[in-house]
Amino acid sequence: MILDFFKQKHECHHINVPINVDEAYCPDCGELVKNKWYLVRCSCCNIKRQAHTEYNEIKPDTKYCSNCGGTDFFVEELDNINFIDVNYAVYKRVIIPQGNYSSRQVWIEKEENLITEKKLISAK
Ligand SMILES: [Zn+2]
Ligand SMILES: [Zn+2]
Repeated sequence: MILDFFKQKHECHHINVPINVDEAYCPDCGELVKNKWYLVRCSCCNIKRQAHTEYNEIKPDTKYCSNCGGTDFFVEELDNINFIDVNYAVYKRVIIPQGNYSSRQVWIEKEENLITEKKLISAK
């Protein structure tokens, strides 16, 4: 019982959910996890930009667009990942909220905590 309690307190990153499936139950925490794919594009010229995730936030690898020098970008969510986009696409493991509203709210609070944590780090 006590062990179970500690396991749940520890935040799960669902690393054991395979990336080649659309969605699966995480073997470590039991949440239904969906692999979501995103592309980062330049807002100015619409070119695909290399990107990564940082504390669950999607960011382009470079500050400026290599095609037009712009800094603005937008994130496009992909319905399906294809082999043309795979070099550019980044993925995020997202919990699919199941059942009641309160579990969804917990998820949103977690997102906010992550952002605050990030601000603290960059302020150092
Ligand atoms: Zn998990
Ligand atoms: Zn551009």
